[in-house]
Amino acid sequence: TISKRLETIARYCPQGARVADIGSDHALLASYLLLSGIASHVIAGEVNEGPYQAALKQIHTLQLQDRASVRKGDGLAVLTPGEVDVVCIAGMGGQLIASILEAGVDKLDGVKRLILQPNVGEETVRRWFLERGWELIAETILEEDGIVYEILVAERGNVELPYENKDRTKVELLRIGPFLWEQKQPALVQKWLHEREKWAKVLVQLSRSEKPEAAARIQEITAEVEWIDEVI
Ligand code: SAM
Repeated sequence: TISKRLETIARYCPQGARVADIGSDHALLASYLLLSGIASHVIAGEVNEGPYQAALKQIHTLQLQDRASVRKGDGLAVLTPGEVDVVCIAGMGGQLIASILEAGVDKLDGVKRLILQPNVGEETVRRWFLERGWELIAETILEEDGIVYEILVAERGNVELPYENKDRTKVELLRIGPFLWEQKQPALVQKWLHEREKWAKVLVQLSRSEKPEAAARIQEITAEVEWIDEVI
């Protein structure tokens, strides 16, 4: 069985697609995509030796080597342009995901869809989409074992569209996620309440502080907490 997180990522993969899973670790997503009949071919990329060996082993154990290629290398460097229709990058920070995409933009020629699951820093990924001509087309948020995960899906198109005619500003929607805002699933509320709790604790600490810069920080964080209260 596969985690709800990876299963949800797989659901955004078009049937028959050729898929690259970058940062594949044990190639769990890559092998699931083949076993479930979603992908026609997968490339599992890994930069680190341990996870690379684990991915090789998984593909061999499941006898999937005819339709899977396990490659060692940094980010999109393992790809040849035109080789895949979909790129998945999951389980890393948004900053790292955006830098992997940025370093390999030339490898994205021919790629139709990006399916990304940043652990943190979702805003950085949404901003990268805006800058590089990728239209956010779907988002979802889910909770598994007490952890909240966001999945962002993009295709080439009108990058501004997801932010138009909404009751929140673009700057706010880049933080929250325009589709997540529309859906307002319980997991989204959970995520922001958790964020709020974190800031509330910092406020308690700061209120005991005698440092001169504490007052300004208290003001900033209070504004942040008020924003969360207003949004959620
Ligand atoms: N994608 C899997 C998932 O979501 O369950 C594994 C996530 S794991 C936390 C992150 C993996 O990304 C690690 O195996 C790490 O070695 C790999 N990784 C980190 N930076 C990378 C890069 N620049 N290129 C390829 N793989 C990378």
